[in-house]
Amino acid sequence: MSRVYNFSAGPAVLPEEVLKEAAAEMLDYQGTGMSVMEMSHRSKAYQRIIDEAEADLRELMRIPDNYKVLFLQGGAHQQFAMVPMNLMKNKVADYIITGQWAKKAWKEAQLYGKANAIASSEDGTFSYIPDCTDLPISGDADYVYICENNTIYGTKFHNLPDTKGKLLVSDVSSCFLSEPVDVSRYGIIYGGVQKNIGPAGVVIVIIREDLITEDTLPGTPTMLKYKTHADNGSMYNTPPAYGIYICGKVFKWLKRQGGLEAMKEYNEKKAAILYDFLDRSKLFKGTVRKEDRSLMNVPFVTGDKDLDAKFVKEAEAAGFVNLKGHRSVGGMRASIYNAMPIEGVEKLVAFMEEFEKNN
Ligand SMILES: *Cc1c(COP(=O)(O)O)cnc(C)c1O
Repeated sequence: MSRVYNFSAGPAVLPEEVLKEAAAEMLDYQGTGMSVMEMSHRSKAYQRIIDEAEADLRELMRIPDNYKVLFLQGGAHQQFAMVPMNLMKNKVADYIITGQWAKKAWKEAQLYGKANAIASSEDGTFSYIPDCTDLPISGDADYVYICENNTIYGTKFHNLPDTKGKLLVSDVSSCFLSEPVDVSRYGIIYGGVQKNIGPAGVVIVIIREDLITEDTLPGTPTMLKYKTHADNGSMYNTPPAYGIYICGKVFKWLKRQGGLEAMKEYNEKKAAILYDFLDRSKLFKGTVRKEDRSLMNVPFVTGDKDLDAKFVKEAEAAGFVNLKGHRSVGGMRASIYNAMPIEGVEKLVAFMEEFEKNN
């Protein structure tokens, strides 16, 4: 068996320990004589799995009691619609456009009401986070929406916007559990798990209880109401059972690493190795304004398309895979999520130094 260093933006690297545990339990989960994949979601064994997953997530993120945790399907994309369908009481919302994901969410919200783009960094190819200290927040806005870590462009909100008292909704798909957050500052935090937590197919929604109501936009399907899922412990229908089980294992792994404070420290250390190199390299350079750099996704270029392609190819042959930048921006991107070991980043930098010498 030989494992590569996988810098994919998502689906992405998972902790080896978790994969080994899952493999060991594949045929017989804790004496049940079956795989979790084969198990009724109404069974006692499965109820324990989802309850423990929720409890561990609550502990890791210190989620206040007046927030519900929902394990849903449909990816982040489905939340682009669920958020307005459930929260747009005045049919007005303000969006901060910091990349493709925020833009898609904003476009989707336009199907349901007035969605205003109140700030954008598109003028700089989304290479920075706009100033959000004094935004033109709409008086009747139902919420303000952000994409907290911009997976494609490698920027991160290091300070939350001043929403002037309006509800904040945040897509945290690519920074979920990478550092501690103050949940009480948000109305909704949500993310697909396939970036930093588990296998594709699960999206986690952390939602303040008073936002869960029957008062949704007319025609909202039952499956797209937060209330449906909140009232049924995320088991109104068959949940993505196996995916949730793996997420639960990752939560336990994170607890063993020392929780989110420890993860933040580790992630900062990892990212600094790569950013410090980019700052001193004469060949490679980062594409993001320094103060807005993401800890999770690190885009960089040589400035020469052919050389970029050569680098990606040689890196792959050396066991550093999925370094090609998003198809919309080109260049390279190293996604260095929680499960990427520090050795992976150290070795990548050593490889980049060698490449620089030879080119
Ligand atoms: C990957 C990603 C998405 C899209 O996720 P899907 O699960 O494919 O819907 C949305 N937002 C962010 C920040 C992402 O990184």
